[in-house]
Amino acid sequence: MLGETEISSCSADLSVAGIGVVPNVELARDAGLAIANGIAVDQFLQTSDPAVFAIGDCAEHPNVFASARVRLESVQNAIDQGKCAAANVVGRRQPYRAVRWVWTEQFDAKLQMAGLSTGSDRTVIRGDPPTKKFSVFYFKEDSLIGVDSINRSADHLTARKLLATGANYIGPGGG
Ligand SMILES: Cc1cc2nc3c(=O)[nH]c(=O)nc-3n(C[C@H](O)[C@H](O)[C@H](O)COP(=O)(O)OP(=O)(O)OC[C@H]3O[C@@H](n4cnc5c(N)ncnc54)[C@H](O)[C@@H]3O)c2cc1C
Repeated sequence: MLGETEISSCSADLSVAGIGVVPNVELARDAGLAIANGIAVDQFLQTSDPAVFAIGDCAEHPNVFASARVRLESVQNAIDQGKCAAANVVGRRQPYRAVRWVWTEQFDAKLQMAGLSTGSDRTVIRGDPPTKKFSVFYFKEDSLIGVDSINRSADHLTARKLLATGANYIGPGGG
């Protein structure tokens, strides 16, 4: 732990900078909306004031796949929540239940993540890690809950379909 004025150095083969965001909730808080880990919304993305919706990085929502309230930071989530909120605004009432996915390219690695792997109790690797073409499948109680793929787009797309349709239970010891 470094104090604010301390300067230190250390050597390492690799360093990873994990940078997240802190949502700007001041406006919502000042407006009297409920705030949790972000602006609290329900399954229809409505805030504590039903006339106000919140979406994207700033919105903490009940996520059906996580069975918990989460705040997601991805372009997919922001877009899909925008569509869902718009539908609810015009009276086509629908809960938010899009499968979370994220994609990024880092040099020669195309990383694609589907689902939420938090709480998994088993992982299965498919592919060949040394060649940078592999996927990690995350299971919880014999159900697939997430897949991280590197240069294996077919695995990613299949995972999204399985998660979206609920066809992700493999049975005891399967996978
Ligand atoms: C460095 C970095 C890399 C990323 N890479 C990826 C990636 O590879 N793939 C991926 O899926 N996601 C990635 N993300 C995340 C992705 O950018 C966000 O999840 C997405 O932009 C969220 O969209 P949003 O509309 O919720 O919020 P934002 O895009 O942050 O838009 C919010 C807007 O609201 C404005 N705003 C805030 N407060 C106020 C206020 N009080 N009044 C008026 N305007 C206000 C902000 O200025 C901003 O323009 C990355 C994020 C970062 C920071």
